[in-house]
Amino acid sequence: MSSETKLGPLTVSRLGFGTLSLSPLQSFHEVDQGAELLCYAWHKGITFWDTAQIYANYPLLRTAIKKLPRLPVVATKTYAYSARGAEAAVDEARRQLDMDVLDIMLLHEQEALTLPGHRPALDWLAGARERGLIRAVGVSTHSVACVLAAAELDEIDVIHPLYNKWGLGICDGSARDMAAAIARARRRGKGIYAMKVLGGGAMYRRAGEAIRHVLQQPWLDSMVIGMSTAAEVDFNLAVLEGRTPPPGLARRVRGRSRRLHVAEWCQGCGQCLPACSQGALQLAGDKVTVQAERCVLCGYCCRACPHVCLKII
Ligand code: SF4
Ligand code: SF4
Repeated sequence: MSSETKLGPLTVSRLGFGTLSLSPLQSFHEVDQGAELLCYAWHKGITFWDTAQIYANYPLLRTAIKKLPRLPVVATKTYAYSARGAEAAVDEARRQLDMDVLDIMLLHEQEALTLPGHRPALDWLAGARERGLIRAVGVSTHSVACVLAAAELDEIDVIHPLYNKWGLGICDGSARDMAAAIARARRRGKGIYAMKVLGGGAMYRRAGEAIRHVLQQPWLDSMVIGMSTAAEVDFNLAVLEGRTPPPGLARRVRGRSRRLHVAEWCQGCGQCLPACSQGALQLAGDKVTVQAERCVLCGYCCRACPHVCLKII
């Protein structure tokens, strides 16, 4: 059972469900199967769900919500930079999730330099919080500098930073740099829930070590992990609770590895390159290639290819 904790003004489970793994960005399309897994995790105490506008999985989440006796806490994210864009994102989430009040709305994948450009959206979200449409406002980021910048903004309740033991995916520093920035934000009163604690899936084989490391961080309120099987739910909960997962379960979870696949019909047009903030894509001749050590398997490039060449498999 995942214990509960404070996250800004909310109470959430210490382990949250990262639903990118249940989205078309990671080649997942089975709404009923995904909803069943969310319900399975909810009944085991994972009652905090993380999604985003671009995950395009609100209908899946709503299907699960309809089967539950109580609402989960749902965090979502938007790339909106204008007031009008923020309003549209909140309307879409409330309508598609069938929730009167959104728990958390984050500005998605921010950097210190992009935050000023999103000020109109942030102001609108802060106003929506005052009007009771949202409970908490925040940012998600892969950047140390952004965590430090967000820590100083009164409008922000919650920060969702990328953090893992190896620093995989942090775009401007090491794991130590990120931990120091997050600790500062925590001291400034921001709620913290970490993402990509398994490096976006790259460290599945060392999942226990990865989760235990993040649990030891004094600034941690909660963390979300992408899961796509009941075995992963059970394994992660066992580690969270300090139990040793049974060997069979550990083998099933460690046996699963994923990668970004480039289809042979890639035309080398380069349109996917700007979608990758990790710099993991480059053109080589007439094809795009992936630097696996930089790729955090976010799937954001997949929707940028007009020829549907990119898939997480
Ligand atoms: S993966 Fe798609 S967008 Fe990227 S270079 Fe190939 S064809 Fe173009
Ligand atoms: S290559 Fe694609 S899946 Fe990998 S980090 Fe970049 S955007 Fe994400």
